[in-house]
Amino acid sequence: MTTVHAQSSTVLVVDDDADSRTWTRVGLQQAGYAVREATTAAQALESIAACPPDLLILDVMLPDMDGFALTRQLRQDAALATLPIILVTVLDDPASMVQGLEAGANDFLTKPLESSELLARVRTLLRLKRNQEELLAERNRTALLYRVSRELSADLDLDSVLARVLELTIGCLQASRGSIILLDEQGAVLRHIYSYQGQVAKVGDAVSAGVVQKGLAGWVIEHGEPVILPDACRDGRWLAVGQSSYVTRSVMAVPLLHPDRVVGVLTLTHEEQDHFGAADVDLLSSIAAQAAVALVNARLFEVVTAEKAWSEAILAGTADVIVATDRERRVTLLNPAAERAFGASFADAVGWPLQEALPNAGLVELFRQAEQAGPTPSAELVLPDGRVLFGTVSAVAAGPHADGGWVAVMHDITHLKQLDRMKNEFVSTVSHDLRTPLATIHGFADVLGHMVDGEAREYAQRIQAHTMRMAALVDELLDLGKIESGVEAVQVPCRLEELVAEAVEAASFQAQSRGVAVQAAVPRLSRTVHGNPLRLRQVLDNLLGNALKYTPAGGSVTVQAWEREDRVLVTVQDSGIGIPPEALPRVFEKFYRVPGAGTSQAPGTGLGLAIVKAIVEQHGGQVWAESQPGKGSTFGFFLPWQYQP
Ligand code: ADP
Repeated sequence: MTTVHAQSSTVLVVDDDADSRTWTRVGLQQAGYAVREATTAAQALESIAACPPDLLILDVMLPDMDGFALTRQLRQDAALATLPIILVTVLDDPASMVQGLEAGANDFLTKPLESSELLARVRTLLRLKRNQEELLAERNRTALLYRVSRELSADLDLDSVLARVLELTIGCLQASRGSIILLDEQGAVLRHIYSYQGQVAKVGDAVSAGVVQKGLAGWVIEHGEPVILPDACRDGRWLAVGQSSYVTRSVMAVPLLHPDRVVGVLTLTHEEQDHFGAADVDLLSSIAAQAAVALVNARLFEVVTAEKAWSEAILAGTADVIVATDRERRVTLLNPAAERAFGASFADAVGWPLQEALPNAGLVELFRQAEQAGPTPSAELVLPDGRVLFGTVSAVAAGPHADGGWVAVMHDITHLKQLDRMKNEFVSTVSHDLRTPLATIHGFADVLGHMVDGEAREYAQRIQAHTMRMAALVDELLDLGKIESGVEAVQVPCRLEELVAEAVEAASFQAQSRGVAVQAAVPRLSRTVHGNPLRLRQVLDNLLGNALKYTPAGGSVTVQAWEREDRVLVTVQDSGIGIPPEALPRVFEKFYRVPGAGTSQAPGTGLGLAIVKAIVEQHGGQVWAESQPGKGSTFGFFLPWQYQP
């Protein structure tokens, strides 16, 4: 930027009196100032417009306008705000002096002028002007930095951040052209943006490898330091690329550093030599530091936006139905599959309580259960169009809703349900048809056993034993079919603690003969459950039967129950052989028996726990199992309390 040196300062002397002008000019020239002259106010204005002087000595009495009026007119031009004006008059009159100072003059002298006094005043005013200009430049720099930081923090779009940085710095440092090259983590050029003074920045073509490797940008990237080329034509680092009519003489380039990596290079050029100074580099480096942070933020934002779009595409593309809520169970997300399943739109549902936005009783209940401590709830939901979904609700720890929330993921299992139904129908028809021939075989084997002795009688007894096992299997299959079809509508208030006591009593003989201690620690419960007492007994019998079957002599079995606000929990705990972790999730499957000696020695069909699960779920509850191989197992279920209005 321009610096005013005393020796090269230009003084414009405006006076219609030739002697007075000459006298003043000679004195100033002897002191090393350049002097221009004008005789009228009009001439003075013309001379100032052509090239503003560094100081003005103005006679008050001009032929076309008085010096006060001219001073006032000059002060209206912001560009001349710092131009020192000395008014000169023949009258040593305080009133004129006041008038002159009020018009905007900096000093007031009376003729005849004393040479040494005039020079002293000129020197002082020029020094003041210099200081004022430096202060002004400093203020402009601070204002620019403030503006840059405000604009940069207001935008997260990478291209507009780059464009703003360029436009502001070109304008402030009066460069003719500027460019920003942005690099990725591997040092390859990510973006190239350029702009000419007064124009909107544009995204440029690919930057040639030479510029980034051997050119000035390459030098800045390698050294991580700013550089000024006073004359680019004499510096080999400046590679003139392409055929541009624009001549580059001065160049200034600074690195964009974050935190210690060069993320880009900001370059400004000018067609005159020596345009940029040390103060400009400092300013540009400060801007570059802020720009680097903004660019890294913009880049992060770009990455995050891309990742968000990617997650949204997955959510939109998946056939699974996904519904999320915040902690207060207000809807925060519905994917398109959920919109279709529940016939609701995300835009209408977001922010509304789940039960109002998606009034599906099963779904609401699933979310309600998720809030209770315990295993992750899952359930089948029936949609209005008849489709069946299998859903699980889990807690979400993080997200836009600081305290997390819940998310339900549901798969369409309609076709599985249909297959299951068909299989059940098939099994129940076949089992039914097997019963009669089995009974016949059993009967004849019995008769035969009475008719023969020895080995033949033993064979007949074996036939009988096996037909009894087959009959038990058929009975269990039929049972399961009945339970799953939900045809048994016996629904009465049941006292669970009484059913437990009966089951323990019934199992005591088997327990005694196996040498296993059975005990129940069930308090009198405050409420009843609603259901089929025979089936609930069957649940307890099966769990107790298994606990006894899989617990060696000397072990123990304990039945316990706990009351919760909305449900009752029952567990059957044994100190038996336990279940390996890989088998645990499968024990409720039909016909599944844990492989190994412990199981194969015990009689069983692999249907007992499937029956338990079906009965508990028919009653609105859930089952679970925990086990430590060699230490024992705990089977538990919960049932909702009977509804009390
Ligand atoms: P099963 O008729 O074979 O007992 P279930 O459906 O009742 O069939 O049980 C399935 C399998 O789970 C059993 O074969 C057994 O391997 C395992 N199991 C069930 N209960 C227990 C238990 N209390 N301790 C150890 N294993 C058990």
